[in-house]
Amino acid sequence: MIKYKLRCKSIYCSKENEFEAWFQNIESYEKQKKLGLLSCPTCGGEDVIKLLTTPNLNKLSNGDLDNNKEQNKLDVSKKTQDLQQKLDLKNITAFLRTFKKEVQKNSTYVGNEFVKQARSMNQGKIKEKPIHGHGTQKDIEELQEEGINVLNIPWVADDH
Ligand SMILES: [Zn+2]
Repeated sequence: MIKYKLRCKSIYCSKENEFEAWFQNIESYEKQKKLGLLSCPTCGGEDVIKLLTTPNLNKLSNGDLDNNKEQNKLDVSKKTQDLQQKLDLKNITAFLRTFKKEVQKNSTYVGNEFVKQARSMNQGKIKEKPIHGHGTQKDIEELQEEGINVLNIPWVADDH
């Protein structure tokens, strides 16, 4: 069954009168229309026109709801994922902070002298001791190639 919105165009109906009618299908509507079986319930006039309808409106809105549910599910899982990543990042940051503190506690800060001192220690020029400082990625790689035990860690900001 299809529900069509019809409009009476008769001059007897004040302001184009709209009404709804049920039909088996579009063919049924066309047939009744052709046979002059369609009449306005107000004035009985046969000059009625079919208005544009949105078919299967109910079904569509249900579909939308389902889609929304699906979307919500996606949103939730995405949020969970984001949160998970944030937590992981927090853990890593916390770990690096702890690591940094340990390094600061157990070794001497030599700043930009780090590469030079690390190399000198390796060559036995100066006494070996734990140090930390700055070096470029290239410096670190070179030291590692020379067999010097250096570790490049991201120097996270302190947790104030
Ligand atoms: Zn009418």
